[in-house]
Amino acid sequence: MSETHGRQRIRLFRAEAVVLRRRDLGEADRILTLFTREAGKLRAVAKGVRRPESRLAGHLDLFMRTSVLLARGRELDVVTQAHAVEAFLGLRQDPWRVGWAGYLADLTDRATADEDPQPLLYDALVESLRILASCADPFPIVRRFEMRLLALLGYQPELYVCPRCGQRLTPGRLAYAPDLGGVVCERCRNEGPSEIPLSVGAVKALRLLLADRWQELERRPLGPSLRGQIEAVLAAALRAHLEGPLPSADVASLLEQRDGGRNDGVSPASVAGTSC
Ligand SMILES: [Zn+2]
Repeated sequence: MSETHGRQRIRLFRAEAVVLRRRDLGEADRILTLFTREAGKLRAVAKGVRRPESRLAGHLDLFMRTSVLLARGRELDVVTQAHAVEAFLGLRQDPWRVGWAGYLADLTDRATADEDPQPLLYDALVESLRILASCADPFPIVRRFEMRLLALLGYQPELYVCPRCGQRLTPGRLAYAPDLGGVVCERCRNEGPSEIPLSVGAVKALRLLLADRWQELERRPLGPSLRGQIEAVLAAALRAHLEGPLPSADVASLLEQRDGGRNDGVSPASVAGTSC
C-alpha cells in the first residue's frame, strides 16, 4: 500500500502487533518495540501518543494486541493508526500478572532479531498473554511459552536420547546437562555442579511441555521440587542461547528497564490498576 503526499511516496503497511516495550521520546511521543505477526520485531514512533486527546492513546499500551498502520521511515517506522484488538485487561489487575507479561515480552525481545517474522512465536505469545490474564497459576503457561520459544527457534532440549552416549533414556538417575543441551543417562552423569538432577516426574513434565500438552500440567499437582526442576532446566536452556542474564518477572525492575529509567507517572500500582 502507498499514498502519495506531494511528490513523495510513503510506503504504508498494516500489521498486527504486541507492544513489547516503550520509551518516551520528546514531550509527547514514544518509541515502541512492536512484535508484529507479519514482519517480526520492529521499532516505531507513536507521535503525540502521551497526549490524552491522541487518537492513538489507549491503543498502544504495554502488552496490548493491536492492529497498526505503519509508515516506513528512513530509520524508524511511524505509527499512523492503531486499533486495539485485545487489551488483556486481566493482566493489569495484579502486579504479578504484569510481571509475568513483562517477562514473556522481554524473552521475546531478547530471543528475536529485528524484522525476522516468527508468526508461530507471535501466536504463542498472544495465547500466553490471554491465559496469563485470567489463570490462577502462571507456572504452566509461562513454562509452556519458554519451551515453545526454544522449540520454534531450534533450541529445544533433548529429552529422549542421552546426548553423550546416544542411548535412549530409561527411568533412572537422570540429569540435565546444560553444556550438552539435553538429559543425560545415569552412566553418563558427571555429577558436576552444572548438572540438574531430575526426577522421573520432571522428565515427564518436560516432555509434556515439549509436546505442547501443557494443559496436562494444570491437571496434576506440581510440588515445589518438581517446579524447581522444570524451571531450572528451561532457564539453563534459555541461558545457553540468550546473551546476558535472563529477564526478570519482578515488576519494579521491569518498569525501570522498560521505561528507560524515566518514569512518566507509571508506577507498578498504576500499571496493575489501570490501563498503562
Ligand atoms: Zn548416556
